[in-house]
Formats: sequence, C-alpha cells, structure tokens
Amino acid sequence: MVCKLRVTDNTNLDEMTMKKLLPTSTAGSLPKPSWLAEPETLWSPWKLQGEELIDGKRDALRVSLQEQQRAGVDIVSDGEQTRQHFVTTFIEHLSGVDFENRQTVKIRDRYEASVPTVVGPVSRTKPVFVEDAKFLRQQTQQPIKWALPGPMTMIDTLYDAHYGSREKLAWEFAKILNQEAKELEAAGVDIIQFDEPAFNVFFDDVNEWGIACLERAIEGLKCETAVHICYGYGIKANTDWKKTLGSEWRQYEEVFPKLQKSNIDIISLECHNSRVPIELLELIRGKKVMVGAIDVASNDIETPEEVANTLREALKYVDADKLYPCTNCGMAPLSREVSTAKLDALSAGAEIVRRELSA
Ligand code: ZN
Repeated sequence: MVCKLRVTDNTNLDEMTMKKLLPTSTAGSLPKPSWLAEPETLWSPWKLQGEELIDGKRDALRVSLQEQQRAGVDIVSDGEQTRQHFVTTFIEHLSGVDFENRQTVKIRDRYEASVPTVVGPVSRTKPVFVEDAKFLRQQTQQPIKWALPGPMTMIDTLYDAHYGSREKLAWEFAKILNQEAKELEAAGVDIIQFDEPAFNVFFDDVNEWGIACLERAIEGLKCETAVHICYGYGIKANTDWKKTLGSEWRQYEEVFPKLQKSNIDIISLECHNSRVPIELLELIRGKKVMVGAIDVASNDIETPEEVANTLREALKYVDADKLYPCTNCGMAPLSREVSTAKLDALSAGAEIVRRELSA
C-alpha cells in the first residue's frame, strides 16, 4: 500500500505517490447520500438545515472517503460532499456578489442559467473550505486533493454589474483563490485542483489572460497544482453540445501549448468515450496528466480491460511516472451503485497496466 506515512512537507508528495505507479484519483464530485441531498440530481438543494446540515455534510464526507478507500483510490478527496455546486458554493462565501439579484446568462456559451450578480468589489471575508479540508486531513494519511473553481469558470457563472471587464474580474478572483489555496495547503492538502471547463470554450481569452489568472491563483504554493478541463457532466445541455463538435474534438489543441509552458503541475482531462484525439496529449508532454478513463455521462460500467486500454493509449504520450488514472469528470449525478462500480473498474484497470509496466 502506498502513502502510509503522512509527509507534512508537501514538496515530498512526488516521492510519496510515485512509489506506486499510476496513482488513481477522481476528478471531483461523488454521489451524495439520500439523507443529505436528492439522489442522482445535480446541484440538489440540501435536505438538512443548521447544525444538522453541518453534521450531515461531515458524515457524508466520511462515507465518501470510505467508499474511495474501499475501491483502492490512491489520492482521495471529500467527494465534494460539502458543496452544492462546484462554482456557486465558493462564490456564496464572498462579498461583492448579490445572490438575490439574479440575471439569466448563457453559461459556457451553451446553456442559459440564472446566476448571481457582482455588485461591488469582490473579496473573501472568511475561509471557504479550509475547515472541511482540515476535517478530511484528520480522517486519512493518504494524499488528498481539493477542488476549487478556476477564475475563468467563476466569471462565466456570474453576471458582472461592477467591473465591466471579464479579465479584471477573473484577476480579482485569482487573488481570492490564491488566499484560499494557501490556507488549504497549510491545512495539509497535497494537490489543489482548479476546475476550468471554460478553458474548453473561450480559447482566445484562455491564451490572452486565462492561464495567467490561473498562475496568479497558484502563486507561491508549494503543494502540487492541477487544472481540470473537461466536456462537463453528463447533462443534456452538455451531451447536446457534444453532438455539435464533430467527429474529432480538438478543443484541447487550442490551449495545450500555452498550458505546457505554464507553472501548473498536473492537467486533468477527459479521454475515455470522448472524441478527443489521444495524440493531442503530446502537446503537454512533460506535464503530469490525470487521464479520464471513466465516462461519467453513461451508466455503463467500464470493464477493467477498457480502462487499461485507455491508459495504454495515453502511455504513448505520457511518461508512466506522470500518468494519474482518473475519471472524466465528477460523478455526482450518478447512482451510488454505478459510481462505486466505476471506481472499482478504475482501480482494477490501473492495476492491470501497473503489472504490465513492472513486468
Ligand atoms: Zn469536469
């Protein structure tokens, strides 16, 4: 078993995880228990309130962690049990954003959503996830990964009535994310991941200022950093969009060259069952890559051999010591049964390739 010893100095994470080749992890969310939120429903409202909700979230975190450990996942997370939405739960904790004043905007240039309004200077008046991260840290000696929204995806999930510039607002969010990330690092988080699905849509902005904002968000961090770029949850707006993308999805090609030169350590991607040409991974050679080997938009359970095949393909472009088997995206909308089976497949598939590599 890897990572029995908790290494307090985060710079030693490599040494720790790399003792085991192909350490597995998930991209983010896992299903919530039915007593906490509506099952198989994305962004479901909480079923509890007040103190009961605080306890309920922590109990759910423990269950989610136990399910990852049972499946043999190497780098564990909170399964995003403490948040309702991967962007808005973070924004709810900031000042300068009015949640009563909502506007309908087009998100990711794809679907309309009612979002809160930025009405003044944004700032973080208190830590957002730091206590949750400390709680997770107390529960396990394994490396832990914590997800935050990326600056560009944050501004794309809001209506701005104050700054009048997407770039300016993203830069302010990057500074706020950096404050949070530094406290997460101090709480013992080993990998901080920024979710940037917007990187798959607004290519010019990504290259002009999106990656610079991301680098501002990770400034001064000693722990590992990751950016997760996917084609989204398996919801209808996303599956409909994917149908318009043609036979080859070459979106990654637009942002990979600049990401390869960035300070981000790990790039988390969608691979299995997608139409992303796998050879695009060559454009980020040298980076660590979280390879999505589990399709989150389908209830079909991958066989270990299917997972192994995706990993073998990726190994043509990613050095073995830099490959992290992962899911394509979060699994929050799936049933617990399906999610559990998919985690098992991920572990079994990684183990097949691990044995091949060490043979
Ligand atoms: Zn995703």
